[in-house]
Amino acid sequence: MIRQLIRRILGAGSESAGKVKPKVYEKSAHGIALNDVSPNAMRVTQTLQDAGFKAFIVGGAVRDLLLGFRPKDFDVATNATPEEVKRLFRRAFIIGRRFQIVHVMFGQDLIEVTTFRGASTDEAPKDAHGRVLRDNTFGEQHEDAERRDFTVNAMYYDPAREQVLDYHGGMKDIRSKTLRIIGVPEARYREDPVRMLRVVRFAAKLGFAIAAPTRSPIKVMAPLINNVPAARVFDEMLKLLMSGHAMACLHQLRKQGLHHGLLPLLDVVLEQPLGERFVALALSNTDERVREGKPVSPGFLFASLLWHQVLERWNAYKAAGEAPIPALHLAADDVLDGQTEQLAIQRRIATDMRDIWAMQPRFERRIGKSPYKLLEHPRLRAGYDFLLLRCASGELDPEIGVWWTEFMAADGPEREALLSRKPAETDQTPNKRRRRRGGRGRGKADSEGSTELPVKGVLE
Ligand code: ATP
Ligand code: MG
Repeated sequence: MIRQLIRRILGAGSESAGKVKPKVYEKSAHGIALNDVSPNAMRVTQTLQDAGFKAFIVGGAVRDLLLGFRPKDFDVATNATPEEVKRLFRRAFIIGRRFQIVHVMFGQDLIEVTTFRGASTDEAPKDAHGRVLRDNTFGEQHEDAERRDFTVNAMYYDPAREQVLDYHGGMKDIRSKTLRIIGVPEARYREDPVRMLRVVRFAAKLGFAIAAPTRSPIKVMAPLINNVPAARVFDEMLKLLMSGHAMACLHQLRKQGLHHGLLPLLDVVLEQPLGERFVALALSNTDERVREGKPVSPGFLFASLLWHQVLERWNAYKAAGEAPIPALHLAADDVLDGQTEQLAIQRRIATDMRDIWAMQPRFERRIGKSPYKLLEHPRLRAGYDFLLLRCASGELDPEIGVWWTEFMAADGPEREALLSRKPAETDQTPNKRRRRRGGRGRGKADSEGSTELPVKGVLE
């Protein structure tokens, strides 16, 4: 106990810190099959090694290979400088972000190559809260390992020797499914508060437990996220929401007290029954798509997360006498303006969100040429998927979703038949509010919304 305390005070950190010599695991111990490794990543490590440099696959790819998951991307770490790396490859670009890295391209495939970072951050420029602003010193491999975030993310795989180098007990933590930050947790979160979001994402995605010393400072330190540039928080939120485990991530965020300020009003949204159902449906759909390897649109995701805020304002503008379509645009402006300060939603994504929202009242106008015009909308599919969510969450009559499913699949005469089938419900001119007839017959689902739509319920 006392020894541990002294080590912490001296900044030596947890047992994982400060190892100069790694533990080496041979193939029989780590079990990674070369077949599962990206041939392009191997080409990069081989080329660097042939030129006399050290080169390893690092980070998430090694972690995922050890866990038997298919890595999302492959990163390489080397002792070659960015310039030296660039010279060895035909299509290589030095990218000057927070750390300078090299993008080596093979067709569409991108391998990120980073030079080993130095360990010392004492002299690095920091903001008033201790967040490291710039830190681009090169260093030894063991220093690079110490600079990484979690023990399971700090292993190096050499495909030529088929060895895994482990400086911080990552293999042990892989086996016990534990996320453990390297070094003194409080110091590491202060240096870069985004690490708190990363813990949550990895815990949810990998199904790992968070070691107590790694977990416990988060509640107190959570407000430090507010000092991180909004664009970086947005990037991390996007990773979190597109991890294939978005629901689990959001639950973890709440559990760790990290949701405040990330998605403003997320709390409020989740507390409204309709809002919660809507967000839950949207996220479980997204999770399913990600897991099936289908593309997911960030615009759709954020449009879903913020929809109930838009709805609220939309209703307020309509109640104040604004016509529905301009009212919706005003509501969208309000919500997007309110978000950009904290979350810096990229313009391209905001445009998608606006398109998806703006299409919604048009789905309710099922008369004349309106539905045909909507069929030509380039974002019809996203707007339609969004409509189905609204139906499935109980916000809209599910019949509208069913109608559109049929209308989109139908041919010319069938479409005409569908248009004439629902004269009463389709009377949705802006000046006339929708008429609800007494006995809403024709087998419609009731407002509690048991639905036959292809949206899977997650709350049941
Ligand atoms: P995935 O790509 O599956 O989301 P990853 O672990 O590969 O997970 P990346 O963001 O691609 O995550 O980062 C690659 C590696 O860089 C990490 O595994 C970690 O070693 C290191 N790293 C990334 N972000 C940080 C950070 N904020 N602090 C310290 N190390 C980091
Ligand atoms: Mg990665």
